Amino acid sequence: MPTDLRFAWCFSHGGIHRFAADRDPWCTASWVWLDGASEAEALVDKAQRFGDARFEDQLTMNQRLAIINGEIPGRKTEESA
Ligand SMILES: [Zn+2]
Repeated sequence: MPTDLRFAWCFSHGGIHRFAADRDPWCTASWVWLDGASEAEALVDKAQRFGDARFEDQLTMNQRLAIINGEIPGRKTEESA
């Protein structure tokens, strides 16, 4: 059996990431956790929450603030101020 995977959308790389559930995420850029047991489900969750936005500059100001403030679980880059 493969290791359990969790999915995240990365707004720095503009794509989905797969992280092993038992390891530290390898991407140190800016991403948010997605819900879903498969990549297809995770992409549905991403589309419902963020629409077509791929990169950070395509998010609304409120979405960016929510990520920076930790209201949307994920990882934010330190330098984005
Ligand atoms: Zn990334």
